[in-house]
Parts: sequence; C-alpha cells; structure tokens
Amino acid sequence: MTELNFCSLSSGSSGNCYYLGNSDSGILIDAGISASLIRKYLNNIGIQIETITGILVTHNHIDHVKGLELLTRKDHIPAYTTRKIRQNILGSVKKMIPDSVRTIPMLESFRLAGLEILAFPVCHDAPETIGFHVCGGDRKITIATDLGHISPVAASYIRNSNFLVIESNYDEQMLSEGSYPRFLKARIRSDNGHLGNHQTSSFIAEIINDDLSNICLAHLSRNNNTPEIVLQTLHRTLAEKGVVPGDHLQIRVLDRSVPTGIIRVI
Ligand SMILES: [Zn+2]
Ligand SMILES: [Zn+2]
Repeated sequence: MTELNFCSLSSGSSGNCYYLGNSDSGILIDAGISASLIRKYLNNIGIQIETITGILVTHNHIDHVKGLELLTRKDHIPAYTTRKIRQNILGSVKKMIPDSVRTIPMLESFRLAGLEILAFPVCHDAPETIGFHVCGGDRKITIATDLGHISPVAASYIRNSNFLVIESNYDEQMLSEGSYPRFLKARIRSDNGHLGNHQTSSFIAEIINDDLSNICLAHLSRNNNTPEIVLQTLHRTLAEKGVVPGDHLQIRVLDRSVPTGIIRVI
C-alpha cells in the first residue's frame, strides 16, 4: 500500500469510528455511531463503502458497536475481533449474525486491506478490550482509545508508532468537581476505566521520539473535558519535562462528532 489515509468519523464517549486505507481498500476501527452516519461521512470524504473490507472491533461497549450490526448485515462488511470479544458482541448486540464476526488472534499479526494488523490487550472495563497496531508500507499506526492505564505491552506498541491515536478522556479537575456520582467517577478513574489528560500527557512526554509524526488525542468526555484543556495539558506537560517536540510533529484533538477529513499518514 503506497498512500495511507486516516479519518476520524467520530471520537468520544458517544461514539467511535475511525477509517484507515486508500482509494482501493480500507478498514474501519469500531463502528460506534449509526451505520447511516458512517456511510454519509465516508461518502463525504470520497470513500466508497464497497472499498471497506473489514471492521476491527476493540470491545463491545455501545460507543464502539452501535452501527456494527447494520454494516455487517446490509453492507456485508465482516467484523474482526478476538474470540472473547466476538462472544461478548454476539451476546450483547441484537440480531448480530455470528458468521459476520471473524476471529483474530491476540498479539499475532494478520493481513487485511493490504495492511498488517495486530491486536494487543488493553485494560478497560469490558470483558476484553484491545488496541490495534497497524503497519501499512513503512508506516506504523497505533490506535488505543479505551484504557484505564497503559500496560507494558500496550506501551511497547504505542512507543513504536509513526501515527498515534490515543485516548485523553477527562480532565482530572473537571471530573472531581463535576456532577457524576462518586461510583462513576471512581470507575472512570480506575485502572480499568479511561485515561485522564495528565496520564496521557505524561506518557506521551515519556515515549515521544523523532519517528512519531502525528498524535491524535481521542475519546474525549463530553462532560469532563474540552479540546482546549487537552491541548494545554499536553503542551504544559511536555514543557515541564523539557520535551521539545520536533517541527514535524502534528498534534490534534479529535472532535467528538465532526469528522476530521482525510489525514495523510506520513
Ligand atoms: Zn469507548
Ligand atoms: Zn469502553
């Protein structure tokens, strides 16, 4: 695959769907908004739905599988996930056709749409959750959107990326002072919940290197975060740790409901 494009169709606690591919073929990572919106957004960026050869699924929470049943049944796009997540999806998504969900191994790469793809485990409060490390040509992309903390195995893939999509879910102070009940705050903060801005920023400061050219901060909470605070936190953390990002590094916050348009993976 020569050219490789990324697009975030939706990112956040209300729905996640990401595209990776080129004009010949591509994949989706999660389908957490309606199938009709996914079709519309792909169409808007000039991607034919027929070129989508598979949907990688990270876990069975509704913000990752909302449109999955229709896309697999009506558009005949197979889903790919681990055996355990497949069972969870078949148990929780109504009308899901078992044959439409194919099993992939954990930590072993497989090929789809000209890409080499590997699923790695992350810590989150679904029965099993995975992130994806994708190689296309000489580009390495890692997508990890729901993780309470970064385990050594997840870190090893994230560290080795040119293009990184990583969660920065909540601002610690907004969550503390917000109206969520105590149990929900604890769940979000837990090691199996979501990453806060400071956690994500500190980790990025640790792993940043010259090969990393794109960072997309993803899966923002509607109530406990803002794009401005996410960026401020990252820039401040990098400065505090004396990290000066290279000129080539692009940092962006993925909008919760507005697609990014095509981003060239370079
Ligand atoms: Zn999620
Ligand atoms: Zn989740």
